[in-house]
Amino acid sequence: VQTVYSFGGNADHSDPRQKDKIVTGGKGANLAEMASIGLPVPPGFTITTEESVRYLNEGADFSDTLRADVAKALEHIEQTVGKSFGSKDDPLLVSVRSGARVSMPGMMDTVLNLGLNDETVGGLATTSGDARFAWDSYRRFIQMYSDVVLGIDHGLFEEALEIAKEDNGFYADTDMSAEDWQSLVAQYKTTVEEELGKPFPQDVQEQLWGAIAAVFDSWDADRAKTYRRLNDIPADWGTAVNVQAMVFGNMGDTSATGVAFTRDPSTGEKAYYGEWLVNAQGEDVVAGIRTPQYLTQRRREAAGASAPSMEEAMPEAFAELAETFDLLERHYRDMQDIEFTVERGKLWMLQTRSGKRTANAALKMAVDMEGEGLIDRKEAILRVDPMALDQLLHPTLDPDATRDVVTKGLPASPGAASGKIVLDADTAEQWAQLGERVILVRVETSPEDIHGMHAAKGILTARGGMTSHAAVVARGMGRPCVSGASAVSIDREARTLRIGSREMKEGDTLTLDGATGEVMAGVVVTIEPELAGDFGVLMEWADAERRMGVRTNAETPADCRMARQFGAEGIGLCRTEHMFFDAGRIRSVRQMILAEDEAGRQGALDALLPEQRADFAAIFKEMSGLPCTIRLLDPPLHEFLPTQDADFADLADATGLGVDHLKRRAAELHEFNPMLGHRGCRLGITYPEIYAMQSRAIFEAACDVAAESGEAPVPEIMVPLVATRRELAILKEQIDTVAEAVFGEKGRRIDYLVGTMIELPRAALMANEIAHEARFFSFGTNDLTQTTLGVSRDDAARFLAPYVERGIFARDPFVSLDIEGVGQLVRMGVERGRQTRADLKLGICGEHGGDPASIAFCEEVGLDYVSASPYRVPIARLAAAQAAL
Ligand code: PEP
Ligand code: MG
Repeated sequence: VQTVYSFGGNADHSDPRQKDKIVTGGKGANLAEMASIGLPVPPGFTITTEESVRYLNEGADFSDTLRADVAKALEHIEQTVGKSFGSKDDPLLVSVRSGARVSMPGMMDTVLNLGLNDETVGGLATTSGDARFAWDSYRRFIQMYSDVVLGIDHGLFEEALEIAKEDNGFYADTDMSAEDWQSLVAQYKTTVEEELGKPFPQDVQEQLWGAIAAVFDSWDADRAKTYRRLNDIPADWGTAVNVQAMVFGNMGDTSATGVAFTRDPSTGEKAYYGEWLVNAQGEDVVAGIRTPQYLTQRRREAAGASAPSMEEAMPEAFAELAETFDLLERHYRDMQDIEFTVERGKLWMLQTRSGKRTANAALKMAVDMEGEGLIDRKEAILRVDPMALDQLLHPTLDPDATRDVVTKGLPASPGAASGKIVLDADTAEQWAQLGERVILVRVETSPEDIHGMHAAKGILTARGGMTSHAAVVARGMGRPCVSGASAVSIDREARTLRIGSREMKEGDTLTLDGATGEVMAGVVVTIEPELAGDFGVLMEWADAERRMGVRTNAETPADCRMARQFGAEGIGLCRTEHMFFDAGRIRSVRQMILAEDEAGRQGALDALLPEQRADFAAIFKEMSGLPCTIRLLDPPLHEFLPTQDADFADLADATGLGVDHLKRRAAELHEFNPMLGHRGCRLGITYPEIYAMQSRAIFEAACDVAAESGEAPVPEIMVPLVATRRELAILKEQIDTVAEAVFGEKGRRIDYLVGTMIELPRAALMANEIAHEARFFSFGTNDLTQTTLGVSRDDAARFLAPYVERGIFARDPFVSLDIEGVGQLVRMGVERGRQTRADLKLGICGEHGGDPASIAFCEEVGLDYVSASPYRVPIARLAAAQAAL
């Protein structure tokens, strides 16, 4: 197989592997695609991801084949542009960039201007006719290469540049002359030699292979690992390397560089959107070092900016660019994110890819593109990442609330957030772990800040535009972000900041509105989201395509109401123990547990009955007409035991039993492994009066609501942690007996079902037996995962992260179902259960019911419904539709 693919010039682009992102990465595949449809792409070559995997596995060693193939591909570039690599007369310069299967913005390394040394810099000066440009390029190269490949702190170089400017009384980089840059280059080289103990590499081949190795290695850098973990990217994909002839956006005022989107990535509006800089290199735009200008006249005017747009300053190049945008959108049938450079009036395309977008924009584009005939309805449904909907379901700022606006920056990523100011990523992570809501405030962010951005509720930067690192990453993560708020100045030593005239410090509260760019002091009131518009349209399309029902896990009327608004079609799990922990009831619950005998227990249960009845009645009213699965008490009694002296004293007062006596009883009930102890249906078997009380409360409430509203709820009574048919048989008989008694008393009957959770491996194995007693199964995949893997749900955090990082688990099995392992038990439960009872109703109510990948599996095995927490209901609706397509 080929290790290297050439693109551009007269390269042959016919091997389908070259356009396969798995082989050549996203960037490489798209460069080949653009070149083959005739767009102006500087010639270059891509080293496959397979080579990077081999390199990393084989201890950082390049194969001879690779070396030979790279040499050949380099020749192709030389022939196409008519320059030669390392030539002191007319040198070829190249860029070296990473390009994984999916885009990982800013996560991996790039080196520009490679091929410059003390000799070739003279050739560049002659051929470009611009010595200043040549020396500026050389110093940029030393700086970037030293940072990325040699691991020297780039701050050292920036400092030297600042000092050089100060000594000369210069304000901007553009004030530096050729001689100034030349003497800075000399300084840079000394710095490298001091730091490294050897000179900066002059051999261009050594430079090239150094850069290739650095890109390969960057796949395993900490920041890339963090990004992979947050985005579920497997560790074994590796990254391709793209080596490409340099084109220069910094060759004077007819040159420029920019980043653009074919539609607005924040709102989805069908309007070109982007930023550019005259006389600059690509990294200047992305790094947020200079504040970029607007691409179009309309945007510039709307923003009231004075620096001319590209449309005004370079009308011809802009017209060609706009044409290219349209062509690319039609070709890829999706919004594109593009990097381009204009070198002395000539447009070059450096990259295109499907652009990252906010959830709002994704919805709007999917619905719009369906309307434009670019994609069909099914494709529109597939275009929206279900998890991204999460961004839309959370509150935004109340437009009527008072806002103490302290400054305004760019609306880089929508959504609103309030929280405490933190000034660095590590602090953000630490405070967030302590449960604080934090706002990360930085001059600008870099890939090293990724963990802090993730931990923060919102991000504020003083520098950088709409396509800066902060903006791109925040949009991808769904974090609100205000960037380029230049009134913000930070004193990291003192841990304070000043916004305009306002002094603030770390820990003060700030609110961001990522949709307007406003930054406000204090907390601002929020309102619930509007679920109409494009959201409603796409959800309707999704509902029409999905086969599975979507229910919710809810146990309060407020959660039920919210879930219904989000489209829930019933309750899949009402955990009744949450009602037991309620402050007003815990005393009765403890009294019941610690009672010596049945009579003592019954007294406490009599006090709980009316409260439970009221709980269920409220839920039945909210969910009128929809099925409600109510699970009988599940957690170990151990969890309800008092631990504080005050609680024992209080209980002693209430029961008339002595504190010592109660403590002794509590000690007797203490369990070493409560999760495998006295819990679930084992409680119902040993203390039948508990389940009897709960069943009575359910049936009485159902009868009362039916009498009151005329619409009878359909309770589905669910028994937890069943392992044997006999357990369920005993409990079912008891539930039926209570039902008959209540129906007799109330003078009416209602329909109900008795079923069980399948959450122990034995239950899945014996599903054919258990189904004789059950009208429905609900897979409790939280416990099923815990018991199948032998991994405690409550203690796994400590080792699961490293497990995922090392690829032992592809994903956290409590978040996304372990399909190949636990999934077998689910499949077995489905098949064996239906063998016994063809109309057995099947659902899932573990956390996995709200996870798109797990939902796809549920569709595959033929479950009837999934159940998810209220905010996940829309995610589940969309994921279920995608799974059905
Ligand atoms: C389960 O185990 O998957 C389940 C839904 O029950 P719980 O999380 O309450 O144990
Ligand atoms: Mg469970």
